Amino acid sequence: MGIDVASLLHRSPQSTCEFRFYEELGDFLAPERRKRSFVHAFDGTPSVKDRIESLGVPHTEVDLILVDGEPVPFSHRLTGGERVAVYPMFERFELGEANHLRPTPLREPRFVLDVHLGRLASYLRLLGFDTLYRNDYDDDELQAISRDEHRILLTRDTGLLKRSAITHGAFLHQTDPRRQLREVLDRFQLDARIAPFSRCARCNGKVQSLAAMPDEHDPDREPPKERDPSPGEPGRRDPDPGEPARRDPGHAPLEHDPDAPPEIRDPSRPKPEKHGSAMSAVPSNVLAGHADALSRCRDCGQIYWPGSHLTRLRQRLAEVGVAI
Ligand SMILES: [Zn+2]
Repeated sequence: MGIDVASLLHRSPQSTCEFRFYEELGDFLAPERRKRSFVHAFDGTPSVKDRIESLGVPHTEVDLILVDGEPVPFSHRLTGGERVAVYPMFERFELGEANHLRPTPLREPRFVLDVHLGRLASYLRLLGFDTLYRNDYDDDELQAISRDEHRILLTRDTGLLKRSAITHGAFLHQTDPRRQLREVLDRFQLDARIAPFSRCARCNGKVQSLAAMPDEHDPDREPPKERDPSPGEPGRRDPDPGEPARRDPGHAPLEHDPDAPPEIRDPSRPKPEKHGSAMSAVPSNVLAGHADALSRCRDCGQIYWPGSHLTRLRQRLAEVGVAI
């Protein structure tokens, strides 16, 4: 057991308790505090959440706290002498379901990403997940979007996750975008929800088969079509969570190398182009070979079609265990 000697010697009378953080929560701790119990000294009767965050661990990463073997809420006050065990999200199924700090999991996971995660945003959208991203969101905006729209905030900024207003957030341990994708899929158990190419990598709008999209009307106002894998206005309605993800034929984004997911535009819903102008960007040989396989973003008009880069994208995602 490690003892914080400096704090014991030089501060006024304090209480101490013993902390142990499990699994990847250790990543947030000083190296000498990982994978072991250590004594922590404190003044007064702080909440256990306050002490956990003072040790460097954002509350969003914590799923279960046991004090002397009993589960407690974040607000539990420490008085001294306790043994505190802190468990991360990944441990949830090994520890049972009853006592977790977040009893209401988000029914349909939706995300908002901080400004450094543009490539991850593209990958999540390519797999059909509702993902807001802009490269100019500030921290207050990220907090407001997460709170108001019940979106999971993904970030590598622990300071952001320590904000009390953020109840659904996740720290990304990985730095490579594809490994981050794997991390998100694992943490939120999303593999069964993957719906490839159902959402626009550029703007997060829903992608719809052109064959099912009439020319005469504003496509945004059309009722959902049979082939739409997730009916409803983008980001505004929760699809039936029990409905299995449908697998449309693969489509690759026009103009973009999947190794570098397309630059993401401001998602403030640019006016959709009419089919004619969007289609004029599609090479004639593609139109001849794949006219019945074209899809189009209902929000920004981006045309998607099956291309050779789809094969490369599949290979690169397969390397992190994602099959599309
Ligand atoms: Zn779009």
